[in-house]
Amino acid sequence: MTSRGLEQLKQLCNDAGIKLTHQRLEIFRELLSSNDHPSAEIIYQRLHKKLPTIAIDTVYRTLATFDELGLVRKLHIMNERTLFDTNLDIHHHFICTRCRKVEDIYWPDFDKAMLPESTEKMGKIQSRHLEMLGICNECLSKQENQD
Ligand SMILES: [Zn+2]
Ligand SMILES: [Zn+2]
Repeated sequence: MTSRGLEQLKQLCNDAGIKLTHQRLEIFRELLSSNDHPSAEIIYQRLHKKLPTIAIDTVYRTLATFDELGLVRKLHIMNERTLFDTNLDIHHHFICTRCRKVEDIYWPDFDKAMLPESTEKMGKIQSRHLEMLGICNECLSKQENQD
């Protein structure tokens, strides 16, 4: 966990007039230590051990607040759950279609590449995000062992 992230949270909450409650702080800590793109439900399950009184609604609401503050990025992957990403650097995702694992991919050449001309007719592109679907090595090796 980076202290930079926590300082940023305190500053942003302060600026936005949001009270940094113990539960909000714990949700943020959990997010920072989860680099596996968890869903709200997973965050809730992990926190529940530490904070038995926490409600899933609090987790949903807090994540929505963090999203508004720009502290997390929502990922809508494969028309499924909403996942949360605390890695705000420009990056893309590899998604295992078997175990649903999501991993970060950095591809600076793609980020800098000229956009297709056709996009000009559509509008102004503000960000680009690639999803690469495949089967992760772990799942591949399980498959081999079965054969
Ligand atoms: Zn997999
Ligand atoms: Zn990511």
